Amino acid sequence: MKFQKKWIVCGAMLCGAAVYAEEGKDLIPGTPYKVHDLERPQPRIIESGGAVSIAPPSDAVVLFDGSNLDAWTSGGKEPLWEIKDGLLIANKKNLDTKEKFGAIQLHFEWKLPNGIEVDGQKGGNSGCFLMGLYEVQILQSHNNKTYPDGQAGALYGQLPPLVNATSPQGEWNSYDITFVPPVYEDGAVVTPAKVTVIHNGVVLQNGESYLGPTMHKKLASYPKNHPETGPISFQFHGDPMEYRNIWVRPLGERDKAE
Ligand code: MG
Repeated sequence: MKFQKKWIVCGAMLCGAAVYAEEGKDLIPGTPYKVHDLERPQPRIIESGGAVSIAPPSDAVVLFDGSNLDAWTSGGKEPLWEIKDGLLIANKKNLDTKEKFGAIQLHFEWKLPNGIEVDGQKGGNSGCFLMGLYEVQILQSHNNKTYPDGQAGALYGQLPPLVNATSPQGEWNSYDITFVPPVYEDGAVVTPAKVTVIHNGVVLQNGESYLGPTMHKKLASYPKNHPETGPISFQFHGDPMEYRNIWVRPLGERDKAE
């Protein structure tokens, strides 16, 4: 499938809103595809059963239940996102948890309201940055083509989802994510960061490895120094994405008494 448009909008956090850029030049290791390759095959489109809403388990940290933004900040200051009718609306800047996390299970639900024009990376773009570094892309990908490593559930700029399970615009989506930070020894990564992404009950990423913290147009790689924990950050990319029911469970260890 040839794309007419050669100019695309980035999804990475550092780019801010509506930054246009060509696809990257770097080849992704083990593939014949470049970063944001417009010719990479589009993931198969499926119809999911819709969002799977799960109430927070008893040991979850509830990050948003519709009532307040107590768990959040925007760059260390007052959170700039808005609550409307019990929904969290993306606004002005990224939204970061005050608390920092390492290995986690994360649940949240998202939708793009009707009445907004969507075109590739424009109109329905947000993202969930694990440890503030590793993006799972959030994009209104129903009936909306873009580079496959930038669509809903992609490890942005690295790995497309197995399938496209995005709900129609105006309908809810759910993400259930598990994430494990990279393991370092003597200043070098020995086990990469790993992620599983389940979208509307459908597996998109099955224990996949990140090549490094998310980059735009460039091949990601691991830095020398890496934090052990970081915030969960939601991206503001200029679009009023809506969220609800956000909770997280730090993953404990086996065989440890309370
Ligand atoms: Mg994004």
